[in-house]
Amino acid sequence: MTRTTALPTTASAEFFDRARAVTPGGVNSPVRAFSAVGGTPRFIRSAAGAWLTDVDGNEYVDLICSWGPMLLGHAHPEVQAAVAEAVARGTSYGTPTVPEVELAEEIVARAPIEAVRFVSSGTEATMSAIRLARGFTGRDIIVKFAGCYHGHVDSLLAQAGSGLATHAVTSTPGVPEAFVAQTLVIGYNDPEALADVFATHGDRIAAVITEAAPGNMGVVPPRPGFNRLLAETCREHGALFISDEVMTGFRASRQGQWGLDGAVEGWRPDLVTFGKVMGGGFPAAAFGGRADVMAHLSPEGPVYQAGTLSGNPIATTAGLATLRLATDEVYDHITAAGDAIKAATAEALTAAGVPHRIQATGTMFSVFFRGGEVHDFDDANDQSLPAYAAFFHAMLDAGVYLPPSAYETWFLSSAHDDRAVQHVIDALPDAARAAAAAMTTES
Ligand SMILES: *Cc1c(COP(=O)(O)O)cnc(C)c1O
Repeated sequence: MTRTTALPTTASAEFFDRARAVTPGGVNSPVRAFSAVGGTPRFIRSAAGAWLTDVDGNEYVDLICSWGPMLLGHAHPEVQAAVAEAVARGTSYGTPTVPEVELAEEIVARAPIEAVRFVSSGTEATMSAIRLARGFTGRDIIVKFAGCYHGHVDSLLAQAGSGLATHAVTSTPGVPEAFVAQTLVIGYNDPEALADVFATHGDRIAAVITEAAPGNMGVVPPRPGFNRLLAETCREHGALFISDEVMTGFRASRQGQWGLDGAVEGWRPDLVTFGKVMGGGFPAAAFGGRADVMAHLSPEGPVYQAGTLSGNPIATTAGLATLRLATDEVYDHITAAGDAIKAATAEALTAAGVPHRIQATGTMFSVFFRGGEVHDFDDANDQSLPAYAAFFHAMLDAGVYLPPSAYETWFLSSAHDDRAVQHVIDALPDAARAAAAAMTTES
């Protein structure tokens, strides 16, 4: 897709050329490449608060926030100071350290878990949780939901046809069919599909894994009671319920999605995975849960799991500083900023005649370029991608960096002040008209 842009992108374009010569697609994680929207990804030179500055000197209000982690905005002075002090003491020892204990205590105090183990990425967290569930139950089958993303774990990179339970087929070359043969994929928010899969395979299912509230197909909140149904069904059949809170944890609310859901209804998942916010912008993630299940991990139990940089003192210091600063006021602020942006987005798209649907859970929200409710992956797929691409680029040209894909959550931080929010709001009417024009061309 070629297009003209209002902002200079010479330096970004040069770095992108250099990057493509030495790195596949020029990026180290695919969605950064703008494949879904076209154009040149911006190389970011620095960031502060709600703002990014690229290598051409352009400034953007950041609505990606590193895909979730930057709950307090960029370069938060207290987090920076804690990290600088920690770096001065050395960066990795390969021994137990104090910040690991303190971060573990903070997480156990907020989340519905009794014990936690640190790893370095969300992918590692879900991979390890699944191994533990299989080791604990002595069973092999994992049930997941279409449209839920749990990192690039082999057995979870699987999708299925729509409708009832389907034996998974790999969704990428490089994952043997045998690896996903033990993964069953069903539609999200579909109690009948869940009942069917347990009726057929119940005594062989090790675990059900779900995003606590999906945010990787846009935000698709669980129907009321759906997570509780998953927890209860697992318990009835001797399977474990794994709630993936890598995105929602300490982000959707102070206690993650569980704070809006299990904490209110009075149930707990067996295992929970975390990442993103808990690393404060560093590579840190975790899985935790019931003490009797976690006791199966080595060195206490037989299920092996390890990591050279797990619980790294810099990463855990950043995570601890972030969580200690993540007070109720932070979540209230992000909610208010989000409400203002949601309302202005709806108004602009309505005025331009663009069908849209905004969905939210806690502080997280996303905009679907279609009318009507979105309950599952089929619904999420039924939207106008050209409209989103046009909208995205108009916003970018006006200095707002949205996620470069229609399937992503929009993330805010406590640093998104009135000036940043107003900058976003001012950009919306033109972007909505660009989306409308793209839809006309499309039809
Ligand atoms: C981001 C994400 C992951 C993967 O985490 P990485 O740190 O990118 O490996 C897993 N699950 C969910 C729900 C996520 O949003």
